[in-house]
Amino acid sequence: MKFISTRKKDQASDVIDAILSGLADDGGLYIPEYFPNLYLNEDLKILSALSYPKLAEKILAPFFSDSSLEKDLGTICTEAFHFPIPIHRLKNGPAVLELYHGPTCAFKDVGARFLSAVLSRNPVPQKKQRLVLVATSGDTGGAVAAAFAERKNAKVVILYPKGKISMRQEQQLTCWGPQVLALAVDGVFDDCQRMVKESFAENSLRENFDLISANSISLGRLLPQMTYYAYASLQNWILTKSKSDFIVPTGNLGNAVAGLWAKQLGFPIGRIFFAQNANHAIDSYFRTGVWQPQKTIATLANAMDVGAPSNFERLKDMFPDLKELKSTCGSLSVSDEEIRNSIIETYKKYSYVICPHTATAFYLFEQLKLSNPIVVATASAAKFNDIVAPLLGFEPEVPVALAQLMTLPSKKVEITRTTHELWALLKKWN
Ligand SMILES: *Cc1c(COP(=O)(O)O)cnc(C)c1O
Repeated sequence: MKFISTRKKDQASDVIDAILSGLADDGGLYIPEYFPNLYLNEDLKILSALSYPKLAEKILAPFFSDSSLEKDLGTICTEAFHFPIPIHRLKNGPAVLELYHGPTCAFKDVGARFLSAVLSRNPVPQKKQRLVLVATSGDTGGAVAAAFAERKNAKVVILYPKGKISMRQEQQLTCWGPQVLALAVDGVFDDCQRMVKESFAENSLRENFDLISANSISLGRLLPQMTYYAYASLQNWILTKSKSDFIVPTGNLGNAVAGLWAKQLGFPIGRIFFAQNANHAIDSYFRTGVWQPQKTIATLANAMDVGAPSNFERLKDMFPDLKELKSTCGSLSVSDEEIRNSIIETYKKYSYVICPHTATAFYLFEQLKLSNPIVVATASAAKFNDIVAPLLGFEPEVPVALAQLMTLPSKKVEITRTTHELWALLKKWN
C-alpha cells in the first residue's frame, strides 16, 4: 500500500516514510492510495469474535503491506492496544464508546501508543538523536510523553501554553523523568504550534536531530484510530443488525476522519457527526460551504480549542462536494453554557459522569434522536474535575492510572515564545 498527498503533487510513500515525514513534501496530508473493502457482511460475525489486537492487526495489515514493519504488525498491535476500549450501554440512553481507559485517560493514548510502538522498531539515523517534538493544547502532550517515556530510542519535547491547561493535564506533561522535556511557553497554543513548525523547517536542527512529529495529522495516529470505530460498529451490528451512527467530539478532525476511513473500509457505519465547541470552523463550512479558519477561542473543552482544524484537507479530499459531505456527516457547535448543561443533564438522566469534550457529543445526541447511535467519549471526567466537580457537587472518580501519575514529582522549564530560545535549549539538552 502506498500513501499519496491530498495535493497530489508529491510522490507516493510507504506507510513508514509517511509516518516519519509527517507532512508530504508538497505541503499536503498523506492519505491511503485506496481503501481495500475486505469486509463483506458474511465476515462480520467472525470479525466481531476476534480479540481487539487481532482485529486491529487485520484492519491495519493492508496499510502495512510491503513496508519494513509488515512482519512486526502483530506485536505492534498487542503492545499498542493493551488497555480496555469498552462500549458502555446506558440504560434508556446511547451506547458510549469509552476511549479513555489508557495511561493518560484520553483517546489520544491509542494513537500515541501505536506511533511509539512503530517508531521503536524503526532504526534512528546514525549520529542523530530522535526527538519527538509536539505542541499541545492539553491532551496530546501527555499521551505522547506516556507512550515514549520508556522507549530507549527517542526523547520527547512538549510545548504547552503556560497557565492554560488543567492542573491534572499539566501533571501528565511534567512527570516523566529525563526522556521528556516539558516546556511551559509564555503564550497561547498557536505560539506553541508555530514554534514547532519553525523547528521542523530549520535545517541546522536536523543535523543533530531526527525530528518526528506526533501531531494530529500524523498517519501513525490516524490509522490506529480506525480500529475502535470498526470494533464498536461490529459489536453493535451483532446486537442490532443495523449500522451505527457515531457522534464525535471534534477539534482537529483527526478522530472523526479515522471514523470515516473505517466506514470506507466497509464496516457497518452509517453517519458521522462532528460535535464542536465554540470553535465552529467546520460547522460554518457545513452551513455556508465556505472554508474560513477562525481565531482559536478558549472553551471548557480545551482539547478541542482549534480555530483551523488541520485534518480538514483530508475531509475535503474525501468529500469535494458539500452535498455529498452532508449526506454522510453532520455537525453542530456547542457553547460552554450548553456543555455545562449537558454534563448536568447526562448525570441526571443516566447517572453517567462525562468530561466537557464528551459533553458536546451528548448535547448532539439529545438533539438528533438517532436510531442506532454511539457517542464517543474522548476523556475521563476526572481529568477535568475542576470543571465537572462544581457542576455535579462531587468529585469524579479518579482512575488508578491517573492517581498514580499525580503522585510523581513534576518538572517543567518555562520559556518565552521565541523559537531561538527553544533551539538553544534543545542543543544544550542533547
Ligand atoms: C484531542 C481531543 C479531542 C479532539 O480530537 P481531534 O482528533 O483533534 O478532533 C476531543 N476530546 C479530547 C478529550 C481530546 O483530547
